[in-house]
Amino acid sequence: MGENSMREIAARLASGTPVNQITDVRGTAFLADSAASCVYPKVECPSFEQVSADKRAYAEANKIQYEEHDPIRGKAILQRHGRKMLVVNPPSMPLTTKEMDYVAELPYVREPHPMYDAMGGVPSIEEVRFSIIHNRGCFGACNFCSLAFHQGRIISSRSHESVVREATALTKHPGFKGYIHDVGGPTANFRRPACSKQMKAGLCKNRACLAPEPCPNLDGDQSDYLALLRKVREVPGVKKVFIRSGIRFDYLLKDKSGEFFSELVKHHVSGQLKVAPEHCVNSVLDYMGKPHIETYEKFKEKFQRLTQKHGKEQYLVPYLISSHPGCTLQDAVRLAEWLNKNGRQPEQVQDFYPTPGTLSTCMYYTGIDPRTMEPVYVPTDAHEKAMQRALMQWKRPEKRRLVMEALRKTGRMDLVGFGKECLLRPERSEAGQRVAEGKPTGQRRKKPVSSVKKDLAAGKKEDRSAKPKQKKTGWAKAKPKPNARKKKR
Ligand code: SF4
Repeated sequence: MGENSMREIAARLASGTPVNQITDVRGTAFLADSAASCVYPKVECPSFEQVSADKRAYAEANKIQYEEHDPIRGKAILQRHGRKMLVVNPPSMPLTTKEMDYVAELPYVREPHPMYDAMGGVPSIEEVRFSIIHNRGCFGACNFCSLAFHQGRIISSRSHESVVREATALTKHPGFKGYIHDVGGPTANFRRPACSKQMKAGLCKNRACLAPEPCPNLDGDQSDYLALLRKVREVPGVKKVFIRSGIRFDYLLKDKSGEFFSELVKHHVSGQLKVAPEHCVNSVLDYMGKPHIETYEKFKEKFQRLTQKHGKEQYLVPYLISSHPGCTLQDAVRLAEWLNKNGRQPEQVQDFYPTPGTLSTCMYYTGIDPRTMEPVYVPTDAHEKAMQRALMQWKRPEKRRLVMEALRKTGRMDLVGFGKECLLRPERSEAGQRVAEGKPTGQRRKKPVSSVKKDLAAGKKEDRSAKPKQKKTGWAKAKPKPNARKKKR
């Protein structure tokens, strides 16, 4: 982030330095005639002309830019543009706690810009107005997120005193009703660098701190965040403190004491906790830089156990992305199956969106994974993207046509039927005949003999719901109520 860079530029301009001589400020870039103008250790990436003409060169440049974006060990990056040289100095150093406190406690008005008044205001301001940011940066390193570039991967955090002062100030606001909606940041439960080595040697070049497996050097202690939340809960006038920023669940599981997890469930969830497994297929998760799905399953199981223990009614809401590079239509079907098995169909889904500078954006544009320089499948066709997206909301009638098409294309018509693993019920042809997808009209799906035998042995009656119903049209017709009166003719 640029506060210190801006202060330095302002100070030098104020002291009379001509702007074209201010070329050594961290976190800034400038055009020069040659590499000699750069005062930092440097590395040159393929030129603008090369990356414009060759996707492999683009991927190589992206890898260098990503790896060197580190304030401690990162080099300046040079890129030739015709006869000029673009020099990108290393990023600014992360703010200290004292600097973070200063920036956070400037006299903000906590109101949207008046320009929005004429448009009816900003409805989400209520949440933002009573939310507190306690940290900056993220070592999560999700490949689709540009935060690693603009805030960096080293965590800075505010002092407890500063956060408590802000919470106290919120209680004085005339609109405050006792609820602090968030004490978070890019990732709510990050308050310290991922490991002690990071502050001396920078972040590792060739590995991520958390995915696919947490690094053995990772420090998973979350007691500082827990202590902060306890203090905010105790501020007079505060009834509840929620956490609405994302929780990194794989990091949460690394907290040995388990105290934070317990108190999160007991005090800080407002009905729904949003977490981001993003997908369920491990190869896709590897392209995303996310932990494998087994970690999420473990987290979910523990969340449910704690929720029960604390007598709460609250749920996990998983965030998911469709059509990320590396995600085939078959993978999208597997995601729908996973959601169906977990009894969840998301209200909102997110289609992959390329954000500036990220590894995922590079994969999207080049079809190359810049980490390995291997080719990667990229769903770019709008129709395939629509199918992938529809599969996440397969129950919606308006998505049925796309879901059916996706299942046909992937040879997964076994998911059309009456079993609970099926996504769609069979449809009827326009002529009113059953098109039971591969089954002759009128043929009933039989239960496998082994499962019928098991049911009989268990004393169960025949499962009539497993038989096709003899409806004439449609696939989601309301049943008549048992006590409904017959219509008089
Ligand atoms: S040693 Fe591990 S935790 Fe530390 S920066 Fe490297 S990957 Fe991250």
